[in-house]
Amino acid sequence: MQGKVIPYGQQNITEEDIQAVNDVLRGEYLTQGPKIAELESEFAKYVGANYAVAISNGTAALHLCAMALGVKEGTRVITTPITFAASANCVRYCGGEVWFADIDPETFTLSLDKTRTLLESKPKGFFSGIIPVDFAGLPINLEAFRALADEFGCWIIEDACHAPGGSFINSSNEKVLCGSGKYAELAIFSFHPVKHIAAGEGGMITTNDKKLYKHLLRLRTHGITRESELLVENHGAWYYEMQELGYNYRITDFQAALALSQLNRADAGLKRRQEIANRYTEAFTKTEIEIPFVQVGVQHAWHLYVIRINNRKALYDHLRSKNIFCQVHYIPVHTMPYYKQFGWKKGDFHLAEDYYEKCLSLPMFPSLKDEEQEYVILTIQQFFKNENSDFN
Ligand SMILES: *Cc1c(COP(=O)(O)O)cnc(C)c1O
Repeated sequence: MQGKVIPYGQQNITEEDIQAVNDVLRGEYLTQGPKIAELESEFAKYVGANYAVAISNGTAALHLCAMALGVKEGTRVITTPITFAASANCVRYCGGEVWFADIDPETFTLSLDKTRTLLESKPKGFFSGIIPVDFAGLPINLEAFRALADEFGCWIIEDACHAPGGSFINSSNEKVLCGSGKYAELAIFSFHPVKHIAAGEGGMITTNDKKLYKHLLRLRTHGITRESELLVENHGAWYYEMQELGYNYRITDFQAALALSQLNRADAGLKRRQEIANRYTEAFTKTEIEIPFVQVGVQHAWHLYVIRINNRKALYDHLRSKNIFCQVHYIPVHTMPYYKQFGWKKGDFHLAEDYYEKCLSLPMFPSLKDEEQEYVILTIQQFFKNENSDFN
């Protein structure tokens, strides 16, 4: 066991996946082939949304969402400090202003109350949008965020990178899947190898809004359209128009084939993540280790299993010396040197900063073996045993 490094997250590539990519490579299309549309349609079904647009990566997906919702210079958008920087950066790509609100002390997702307080502290119309994150795979209560957003005339982009397959129960007792588009205008996912579904690089936008969907299709490919009803002129079958400044944010057909093959196993992966989470929870309940918040009726997607401990650095270093490579998610975005230039600083969001001091993401991925997880648990238990005896 000691010889092999156990990472916090890892892709799982099967022979079937390899075959699926092989088939595309031996076929006719390398870039814009049929696998992309197939992935879009299957993924939309998986999260219960009407439309899906495959994108070159999750960050580009966020960028296009911000563009499609009209973020420009002076547009103010609220997000959480405990997320990957991309959730905030998409606003900056469009010249907008990023504002942060603190996290909920229990769930560690963007606090609904703190968001309300921030919205109420300014005149109506001051903020244009909210980007909540299903952090670690825990679905945020988007029904509540929708009501708040409506009150203040804001749109919502759900950053669901951690939560494909996650769901919560709304006030009408319906199951609402992350990225379903029921409450948020747009949702985004990532197909980076550490996420649930790997494409190499890849991303997805889901929505129920047909107009936004059509717009995103254009933005993904330079702002170009060939749809005859949208054209200003029409010179013939070759004719297209570039109607606004878009990007090349397309995914390739062989990446889509890989993601599609992985999507077929997504439910099994989620089930395995749940088993791993249960095993950690069982081992750490009633110890000094704080375990993740879970709620009845919520399907956590378990992208991360985050524990909180007081001596995080010592535990991290100890685990690393035993070839267990944990990770810290995340260093609060508002403390990043880049964001400091806008006036944000350490001390602005105490709950996020306190969370950061203690958090540690344990190995969590479907191909983690039982004996590997046991080794992780035993190593952690041993660490605390030694710590405690040092104090005696
Ligand atoms: C991974 C991730 C992204 C970015 O996705 P990429 O595909 O790596 O660009 C954005 N937001 C969150 C919360 C993520 O975890």
